[in-house]
Amino acid sequence: MIRYGQQDITQADIDAVIDVLKSPNLTQGPTVDRFEQGVMAHTGAKHAVAVNSATSALHIACLALDLGPGDWLWTSPNTFVASANCALYCGAQVSFVDIDPATYNLCPKALEVKLIVAKAEGCLPKVVVPVHLTGQPCDMAAIHALGRKYGFKIIEDASHAIGGSYKGEKIGRGQFSDITVFSFHPVKIITTAEGGMALTNDDELATRLGLFRSHGITRDPALMTKEMDGPWDYQQVVLGYNYRMTDIHAALGVSQITRLDQYVERRHELANRYTARLADLPLTLPWQHPDSHSAYHLYVIRLQLDQITTTHRAVFEYLRSKEIMVNLHYIPVHTQPHYQKMGFKAGDYPQAEQYYREAISIPMHPSLTDEEQDYVVEALRAALAQ
Ligand SMILES: *Cc1c(COP(=O)(O)O)cnc(C)c1O
Repeated sequence: MIRYGQQDITQADIDAVIDVLKSPNLTQGPTVDRFEQGVMAHTGAKHAVAVNSATSALHIACLALDLGPGDWLWTSPNTFVASANCALYCGAQVSFVDIDPATYNLCPKALEVKLIVAKAEGCLPKVVVPVHLTGQPCDMAAIHALGRKYGFKIIEDASHAIGGSYKGEKIGRGQFSDITVFSFHPVKIITTAEGGMALTNDDELATRLGLFRSHGITRDPALMTKEMDGPWDYQQVVLGYNYRMTDIHAALGVSQITRLDQYVERRHELANRYTARLADLPLTLPWQHPDSHSAYHLYVIRLQLDQITTTHRAVFEYLRSKEIMVNLHYIPVHTQPHYQKMGFKAGDYPQAEQYYREAISIPMHPSLTDEEQDYVVEALRAALAQ
């Protein structure tokens, strides 16, 4: 079976985890610090707050930016539900901005059109969440400029994108956003099993992210409202959660990050091989913006349905029947039943919906061999000729 994405675990990873199991610290401790330092060194971000998932990171990012009832968060409909759900956790409202048909990312032109309307109606968003789909960064300079003009904050959902770069700077550097979020789920670029991280260059946001990660509790006298009663004292200063990462998980991250550049390099190699081998087929292949160096979490093909006699579903099922576990990223979030209950309808975001009717994520991960990849290419060729 060839999966669309999967983790790569080495003996060094296993040894790193075992070392923590034999140490005095299992939950958040020195290894979490080391992992945060490693991600900061890689990205150039000033602060990093490791948590138990990217979903948690998105939630505390929204809380740190004071998103709450009466506020709006806008994101792309072409994403995992977590990018939108984080607003609902905070009691805020969600809306979407349709995608650019070339990059499949949130379209800055559509964003501006929607902002003009929202300004007139007095419902501008407090937070916009661009999602770097497949690992290709969004047009962050344009989105950032609109943020300045219309006064919204930016959380980059970079769950697909650690190891990639934008305009020569690593994703996570944060020169065009307030907070960047990574996921370390096993299918992502590097893994901690479950895990995520929120990065920022802002000292105050970093403090707030740290508080929301762990119950809103602090032992830092500078954050307390009164003098400490004694060395045992701590204070809960806001309502936070238990979103801590464990040292066991962080050990995997510390070990994995040493191979991050190598992983992204192999992903590019595989992408180039696909692009060369699929060029003659009735497919739209990933287009790469010149400002971006993708982490290539996914390799998405779009079927040119008017050029083939078979269907999207038949191609998908054929590949699965050949033990190629293709997938689809994503079902437009606004078409999910929970979002339909909130009033969203099919037809609201036509570019994301058109993409959904044509897209298939074919296998892409660093341990995919050239031979496996050639098997995928041949199966795809046969599937399209059905
Ligand atoms: C995977 C993913 C998430 C959620 O990540 P978890 O670590 O599983 O919580 C959020 N957004 C996007 C775009 C993702 O791909």
